[in-house]
Amino acid sequence: MRKRAKKIDKFNDIVMNSPKYAPQSLQDLAKLSECEKSIINLSRNENPFDIPENIKEIFFEKVRQVSLNRYPELTSENIRQKIADFFNSYFDLTNVGLTRDLTKENIAVGNGSDELISYLIRIFPGNEVIICTPTFEMYEFYSSLNGLKIKNCPLNQEFEIEDIHKEITEKTGLVFICSPNNPTGNLQPEEEILKILETGVPVVLDEAYADFSKTSMIKYISQYPNLVILRTFSKAFGLAGIRAGVLIANQEIVSQLMRIESPYSFNILTEKMLETMLENYNTVLDNIEYIIEERTFLSSQLKGYALKSNANFILLDLGSLTDMKGITSNMAYKYFLQNGIIVRRYDNVPRVENKIRITVGTREENRRFLACFRKMKDDVTAI
Ligand code: PMP
Repeated sequence: MRKRAKKIDKFNDIVMNSPKYAPQSLQDLAKLSECEKSIINLSRNENPFDIPENIKEIFFEKVRQVSLNRYPELTSENIRQKIADFFNSYFDLTNVGLTRDLTKENIAVGNGSDELISYLIRIFPGNEVIICTPTFEMYEFYSSLNGLKIKNCPLNQEFEIEDIHKEITEKTGLVFICSPNNPTGNLQPEEEILKILETGVPVVLDEAYADFSKTSMIKYISQYPNLVILRTFSKAFGLAGIRAGVLIANQEIVSQLMRIESPYSFNILTEKMLETMLENYNTVLDNIEYIIEERTFLSSQLKGYALKSNANFILLDLGSLTDMKGITSNMAYKYFLQNGIIVRRYDNVPRVENKIRITVGTREENRRFLACFRKMKDDVTAI
C-alpha cells in the first residue's frame, strides 16, 4: 500500500502571520439564518436598492446571447472602452468637471477595487506604503501580505490628511488616500493631495464613495501621471454582488498593472451586468439623490453623535454621549444585533474604537435604526 503524505503544517510566514479579513459583523451575519429577512444589515456600506427588474431583464437577455463556454476577452478591451466613454459623460453630468479624453488605455478593471489594490501595491518600486489612519483596512491588509512596510501617518483631529508630503522618502512606494474616507466619511483636502502629487510619488486616491459627495480629482489625471483613482460599482451603482472595480490613471500605470493581472480575470457575467448598468444609469442617479437625502435626515436625527459625512455611511461617536456614559461600541453593537440591526464596530482601531459606523439605508430601515438607538439610550439611562 502507498504511504500517506504528512499533513502540510508549514506555509509562507507572511501568509501564516496575516490576520484574516473577518469583521465581527460578517461573522455574526453568517450565523443568522437565511430566512431572517427582517435583519437590517447596515454594516457594509451597500446600496439598499437592488437593480430594478427591467434592468435585470436586459442583463438576462445579454447573457442569453453570449457563449459561456468561451473565455471572456483577454484584456477586457470592450468594457474598458465603455467605462471610459461612460465616465467622460458621467463626471461631466455630476459636475466634477472633466476632460473628456479618457480612453480604454486609462482604465483597468478588477474583481472589485479590492483586487486592484492588491495589484497596485506590487507595481511600484519602494518597499514602504504610506497609510493615513483610521482608514479602509484593505490597504494595510494587502501591503502586509506582500511583505511591504507600513508607514502609518495618522489623520489630524478633523480626520484630515496634513503634511503627508513631508513624510515621503526614497523608500516610499505609494501613498493611499481615501476620500471620502472610510470609516470617518469626510472628504480629504484637495490642496494636501496636490502637495503629495507634486512630490512625484504614486498616489492612490480611493474614491469608492465619491458618487455621494459628487467630487473627484479626475481632472488632474492628465497633469499628474502619478495619480491613480479608484472607483467602484459596488456602492452608488448597487452592484456589490458582481464585483466590479475600476482604476483610472495614466496609460503607463494601467499597462504595467495589466502585466500582473491574471488573464481573462473580468468574467463575462460581470461584464454584461456592468455594460447593462452603464447603458441604464438613470436609476443610479436617483438612488444617489435618495441616499444623500436620507443621510441628511439621519444626521439631523443623530445630531451630537454623527460625524459629518460625504459618503453613504455615518460614523457615530458614542464616546461623546453623556447620557450613555459607560456604553462601549461593543455593547451598542450587541444591542443593535439583538434588535435585528447589524452595524460596524471597530475593536482595537485607534480613534474609532468607541464609534460605530452605519450605512444609510431606506427610510424604513433608517427609522428602525433611529427607534432602536433611542431605545438603547432610554434603556441605559434607566439603569
Ligand atoms: N475602497 C473603499 C474605501 C471601500 O470601503 C471598499 C469597500 N468596502 C472598497 C474600496 C472595495 O470595494 P469593492 O472591492 O467592492 O469594489
